[in-house]
Amino acid sequence: MEYPGNLFVVAAPSGAGKSSLVKALLELDAKLSVSVSHTSRAPRGQEQHGREYLFVTPEEFRAMVDRGEFFEWAQVHDNLYGTSRAAIEARISHGDDVVLEIDYQGALQIKQLFPHAVLIFILPPSWEELKQRLVRRGDTEEAVIAKRMQTAREEVAQAKHFDFVVINAVFETALFDLKAIVQAQRLKYATQRRNRSTVFRALDLIE
Ligand code: 5GP
Repeated sequence: MEYPGNLFVVAAPSGAGKSSLVKALLELDAKLSVSVSHTSRAPRGQEQHGREYLFVTPEEFRAMVDRGEFFEWAQVHDNLYGTSRAAIEARISHGDDVVLEIDYQGALQIKQLFPHAVLIFILPPSWEELKQRLVRRGDTEEAVIAKRMQTAREEVAQAKHFDFVVINAVFETALFDLKAIVQAQRLKYATQRRNRSTVFRALDLIE
């Protein structure tokens, strides 16, 4: 499927800083918006229905799967997560740029459907640093950390399938890198031709 809007897909192991980076990117770039996923997990902390996620029961989620309402979905840490067609189709078909903050399984499904989607993987600078970040985030139980680290190794092994890699050692540098990827995508010939058609026409690049 091909749409005029750009689709950026960001994946990372938990603790790599994905959510903070995407949040900062959205604050910097008014032309980007994030897709709100559906999940079968319960809200955490201050999370609100429709803001962080659309919270549904596992039964509702399965019914949506059966009705073919998801572009992609995956089970992550015992819960179901998915990107509905409704969440992105209208926006990218109108030429808006959308960011999906999803896990690697979903990212690879999106690439199958949208070969032009830009897949970005965020890596921590080291295993030790990732572990420290999980501890600082409040995951203090040794067994929980060990499980998250094991999952992180499986996820990081998938980075080779992505188009871009951002190493989040220094937050500001990683944010700059992320912004550069978005900008580079927007400067591609086909995108410029579409978005700057007046210039292209004036230069006889469009009939
Ligand atoms: P959390 O429960 O911590 O918010 O998210 C757990 C994982 O699920 C994160 O890696 C997050 O990016 C991923 N995730 C969130 N929404 C989606 C989605 O729509 N599809 C997929 N495949 N993964 C998602």
